[in-house]
Amino acid sequence: MNSPTAQASALPHSTSRAATSQPDPWREASLDRSGVNTLRDQLVAAGLLIPTGVAGLFGRSQQLERVIDALDALITRLGADQQAEVLRFPPAINRADFERSEYMKAFPQLAGTVHSFCGGEHEQQRVLQCLDRAEDWTEYQKPTYVVMTPAACYPVYPVVATRGPLPPEGRVVDVLSWCFRHEPSLDPTRMQLFRMREFVRIGTAAQVLAFRSEWITRAKALIESLLLPNTLDLANDPFFGRGGRIAARSQREQSLKFELLIPVESEEKPTACLSFNYHSDHFGQLWSIQDSDLRVAHTGCVGFGLERMAIALFKHHGFDVGQWPVSVRETLWSSA
Ligand code: ATP
Ligand code: ZN
Repeated sequence: MNSPTAQASALPHSTSRAATSQPDPWREASLDRSGVNTLRDQLVAAGLLIPTGVAGLFGRSQQLERVIDALDALITRLGADQQAEVLRFPPAINRADFERSEYMKAFPQLAGTVHSFCGGEHEQQRVLQCLDRAEDWTEYQKPTYVVMTPAACYPVYPVVATRGPLPPEGRVVDVLSWCFRHEPSLDPTRMQLFRMREFVRIGTAAQVLAFRSEWITRAKALIESLLLPNTLDLANDPFFGRGGRIAARSQREQSLKFELLIPVESEEKPTACLSFNYHSDHFGQLWSIQDSDLRVAHTGCVGFGLERMAIALFKHHGFDVGQWPVSVRETLWSSA
């Protein structure tokens, strides 16, 4: 997942009838389709992805879900020795936690805040009028205390912080969450709502770095057992603005983020399907998490993009799961 190591947008309120004040990219038809890949169209034609009319917002077929469930279970088996604490959260976080996370400093362009109607009957009449006239009706939509989860590990840090200093061995937490990122795209691997499975490590710098290198090895072996071509590369998060360029450079210089890339949408620009992140003491500082020696804790995480991994499998092994190589099906569906 991405972390704001260096430094309000509204949800779409589109309806079938009304025009809104949202920028055009909300609506798929208005996106520039020139030079568009056909992978998205193929996935839709095969019924794996069900378009909703908003770019990056899809329904999933039973077949796609079956693969995602199998990947999720495979990741569970791979991490069985970690004694991870399993935590599950809804796909939204407390706005106060979101503010404290400094996400708006680093990635304001990706954030999604939940807004709700906060008027009386008079204002409701005005909203209905606007809807009838296909005018902007969102004037009385006000921010709630709910913000969409941007990365699965975000709800974990405030919870761990409330528990006092870490035990000497630190902690490993297993999370899975739907995540929202406002990055509408015709690339089917770049969705606005998708699932991220993570193991989050909280402890000393040495513990977190050892965890990350162990997971790079494990995850690469997992992707190879699925017969997917891949490369590991140093990466940076899409920090916002001019200051963001400095943050991105610094993230690379410190080797904080690695990604496992698989060619999916294009051969030339392979897609990051897994990431291995070291946040140094960034979240430890923000949330006042202490290790067992009462020093600021370090954190890191390994993130698996479940839709990206599943789409990579369909891309490389075909849209008919029954025709996938036997060893791939065994890896996914044997519970050994
Ligand atoms: P990218 O560089 O492609 O924007 P990322 O490096 O920001 O991705 P992370 O923040 O590391 O992604 O998230 C962990 C994993 O979540 C990624 O490796 C990817 O598999 C998945 N992921 C991230 N963004 C998306 C998205 N928009 N749609 C689907 N999956 C995503
Ligand atoms: Zn994370």
